[in-house]
Amino acid sequence: MNKKEQDNKNLNSQNESDKILNLQSKSDKMEKIVSLAKRRGFVFPSSEIYGGFAGVYDFGPMGVELENNIKNHWWKWMVQKRRDIVGLDSGIFMNPKIWEASGHTKGFSDPMAECKECNTRIRVDKILEEIGIIADEKMSEEEINKLFDENRDKIKCSKCGKKNFSKVQKFNLLVQSNLGDFTEKGDNPAYLRGETCQGIYVNFSNVVDSTHMKLPFGIAQIGKAFRNEISPRQFLFRGREFEQMEMQYFTHPEDEMKEYEKLKEYRWKAVLDLGLREENLRWKKHENLVFYAKDAWDIEYNFPWGFDELEGVHARGNYDLTQHSEGSGKTQDYYDQEKNERFIPHIIESSGGVGRYVFAVLNDAYTEEEVNGEMRVVLKLDKKIAPVKVAVLPLSKKDELSKPALELFEKLNENFICQYDETQSIGKRYRRQDEIGTPYCVTFDFDSLEDNSVTVRDRDTMQQDRIKIDELVGYLKERLS
Ligand SMILES: [Zn+2]
Repeated sequence: MNKKEQDNKNLNSQNESDKILNLQSKSDKMEKIVSLAKRRGFVFPSSEIYGGFAGVYDFGPMGVELENNIKNHWWKWMVQKRRDIVGLDSGIFMNPKIWEASGHTKGFSDPMAECKECNTRIRVDKILEEIGIIADEKMSEEEINKLFDENRDKIKCSKCGKKNFSKVQKFNLLVQSNLGDFTEKGDNPAYLRGETCQGIYVNFSNVVDSTHMKLPFGIAQIGKAFRNEISPRQFLFRGREFEQMEMQYFTHPEDEMKEYEKLKEYRWKAVLDLGLREENLRWKKHENLVFYAKDAWDIEYNFPWGFDELEGVHARGNYDLTQHSEGSGKTQDYYDQEKNERFIPHIIESSGGVGRYVFAVLNDAYTEEEVNGEMRVVLKLDKKIAPVKVAVLPLSKKDELSKPALELFEKLNENFICQYDETQSIGKRYRRQDEIGTPYCVTFDFDSLEDNSVTVRDRDTMQQDRIKIDELVGYLKERLS
């Protein structure tokens, strides 16, 4: 939220025309990424043939590969490489009492106002931020109403253009369902989880009992979460259905801040290892902490509209397990045998959204270059997250070439995710592979029949090497691992 302060400072230091140019090129970039994502099968708007469904996106053939690679990378860093962290996959539905204990049924809300002319709902903190007023969703109803009243004359309804808004009210973000509720009125709602970490907290004692993990240790989970966002926006950045990657790390109260610093450092390294450019990343401290939090920092990424949250690393004290001790009536404490000490563990967490990472890596990798007087669009994705690693392209569709090329494709496919493409000119096929970020294109031509070699083209340098087919798997493995 408070990144706006920094952004405002940055904007104020430029003159008016720079500001306009800057904003324009940023929204151009956004449009280009959304358009490429659709054109090449990364991300589709939900339910498109039925006019869409706001706040939900579908990941296409390239998107699902990219997404899986990002999730696997996270899992590798957060579970596989760590002896002190284990995984979990808890259900999306949980006992509704969990959301009462966690404070979500009461406090998980955004400030909303409604246009009295056309009933359009606006998210007030975001609208205020757009006109340069610092606001956030944690403000009390009185605070935000006061700010809103002071600025009413500057805020127009985006639909009808009038300035006739209701008072600001808190709107709860939990999504209700009627699962297991067989009452007429549906007055016993179960919720679709608003975050994945609650499933981790309520399984803390199960994990301790079943694995004998000793503090400090962590539980990691990747899964979907749902929020009734009033105005979903900014492409994959703020949706109603999204996927989280969260790790909750349980510590002795005295170790909390020491472990917190270690986790911050570790997450920074992991994010860089994803191939994001360091100049597009920064740390941002939370100005307004929730009452129980010890410290909270976000890793921010330079999205097309400026720096904004990519993931949070937060020190949460003993709030979560205390709440669930009280809510369930079962003390969620930990017994340290060596010290003969019983206490409620403190928690530090790392929490990020898969969609935000997909967006960030697409934004980071998107490159336009002039090559021989023509524009080339290329996704310079880190090789380990590129959806397709190798494309096999026979120079001609004739059986003479396509048969051995297909055989080569089958052989490579055993080792890497590959594509076989024989349609259109070789130039167009290169361009297609550039746009999905395929690191290597292998061209099988008529000479290949004679010299048992193929041409391997590097995505970034466009340099071509002639490689013996027998040596090809080794050549690619060396470069892709
Ligand atoms: Zn209106």
